[in-house]
Amino acid sequence: MMFAVMQNTGLRPLEQVQEQASSIASRGSRPASLWWTCADDVWDSALESITPERSAIRLSTPRLKGPEAIVQVQEALDYSVQDIGVQHLVLCGHSRCSGLHSAPKTASNSDAHVNPLVRGVMRREKENRDAQSALLQNLRLIADCSTVANAVAAGTLTLHAIFYLAESGVFLRFDEVGSKFVSFD
Ligand SMILES: [Zn+2]
Repeated sequence: MMFAVMQNTGLRPLEQVQEQASSIASRGSRPASLWWTCADDVWDSALESITPERSAIRLSTPRLKGPEAIVQVQEALDYSVQDIGVQHLVLCGHSRCSGLHSAPKTASNSDAHVNPLVRGVMRREKENRDAQSALLQNLRLIADCSTVANAVAAGTLTLHAIFYLAESGVFLRFDEVGSKFVSFD
């Protein structure tokens, strides 16, 4: 198994990181990356297909959106960056994420004339755009945390954002140069 703790265990973020770090250490390795995901089980198999090394830590939280989401992982991030020295921090988002829903969806009146099939596609595209911008908001908030900012400035840490289209099994990564999500080469 690639991740020491694959399931949503109910452990606090810091406990999740500590438990997996010691499990990785017991195999004679050291954690190189931290993958922050929602608690949806879509990641249980998706992460296995994208994570290159056997020393990745998965940090999962029920909520992904807003500054309070950052607060709940702050300790775990600081520990991962300062104490463990992970080289990569990967923020993971996906389509139809239950961790992002804030308000119930209501159909807009202006859409009433649109074919229901098209309307469904448009709604899903908007959901994905919203989910991606929430992910980028988190990326910016995390980049501003002093521990993270210092490590990035020192060249010892790289930040990443990936978005998983669960329906098609396609991963997108955020490209800073083009400032958009693009497929992996
Ligand atoms: Zn989710």
